[in-house]
Amino acid sequence: MSDAAFWQKLVEWRRDFHRHPEFGFEEHRTARLVAERLRGFGLDVTEGVGGTGVVGTLRRGNGARSLALRADMDALRITEQGTPEWRSTAPGMMHGCGHDGHVTMLLGAAERLATEGGFSGTLHFLFQPAEEWGRGAQAMLDAGLLDRFPFDEIYGLHNAPGLAVGKFGTRAGPIMAAEDIFDIRLTGKGGHASQPQAGREVMLAACALVVELQAIVSRRLPPSAAAVVSVTELTTDGARNVLPGQARLQGDARSFLPIISATIEKEMRRIAEGVAIAHGCTAELDYTREFIPTLNHPGATAAALAAARATLGATNAEEMAEPITASEDFARFLALRPGCFAFLGNGVESAPLHNPRYDFADDAIPHGVGFFTAIARQRLAPDAEPLA
Ligand SMILES: [Zn+2]
Ligand SMILES: [Zn+2]
Repeated sequence: MSDAAFWQKLVEWRRDFHRHPEFGFEEHRTARLVAERLRGFGLDVTEGVGGTGVVGTLRRGNGARSLALRADMDALRITEQGTPEWRSTAPGMMHGCGHDGHVTMLLGAAERLATEGGFSGTLHFLFQPAEEWGRGAQAMLDAGLLDRFPFDEIYGLHNAPGLAVGKFGTRAGPIMAAEDIFDIRLTGKGGHASQPQAGREVMLAACALVVELQAIVSRRLPPSAAAVVSVTELTTDGARNVLPGQARLQGDARSFLPIISATIEKEMRRIAEGVAIAHGCTAELDYTREFIPTLNHPGATAAALAAARATLGATNAEEMAEPITASEDFARFLALRPGCFAFLGNGVESAPLHNPRYDFADDAIPHGVGFFTAIARQRLAPDAEPLA
């Protein structure tokens, strides 16, 4: 197959995945196509690894070392508003995070590496379900991923709107945030809107609490600690001329270190209880941890940057100054094995991730295939040193 025909085929695969988005753990069509194509390239394929997860294994030479490369497969419950020819055919569902592109790039790399080799050792291509709600990586691990498909290092890519196509960025240490969610319930005594003194209505307390929670980041954490506390929902049982006796505040907190997450929870509990007392009502808090922080291994990050510079050009791969406050369940793999998660440009004009007009940039496909191919060959070169 000519080079042009190879890239054209991948663009068609990407657009086909885009037309058929599937929600987390329901990626049956996607997983079936992935498995079929991997078998077609001659890989050993295992399906059903953590729900709809697929692992393709490729061995060459007698190298004892092993690498995992990962793509996520799931789509979002968003109604697509863009009008590309390949727009979603699934009502209320779209590939709004570019996982259609991630799957395609990893398939392209698998085909290249199967056809051309250039490494010695074992490659596991992980096609992961359900990244968006942060359950798929853990499901694959719970299915015995590390025992059944052992690997020494792991690498993954996410497309990045705002970064030019052909550019690559990553950093050692924290690269994406932990996500905690909170749910605060205020209980007082509702009543007639004309007689607030007769009860303990909770609207004023709830509004005070929304404001006071901002003191956690601005006044309770050190200025050097990056964190976000966002109240995203405020609901009450009030109505026209009825003061509420119940209020519920829900929201989301991001941070990069467990100690900071613990401090946010502790301070939130104290502030919620204190504000409730000041307003004569009571507060209850549920605080749960959904995503752990994504922490890149320094040696693997240096290797990823070197591989990206070799394929994309010396000036197109940069170490990022700041981590990103979104979250990624690739963190679950990095908690157990060294590796690196990195960003690949989706274009400066690209709509943001999770936006109804977002679309993956097909021009980025060769760059992602190039990166995965290069990191595999570099880290499974016969003379490659294990990471320090
Ligand atoms: Zn997403
Ligand atoms: Zn994503």
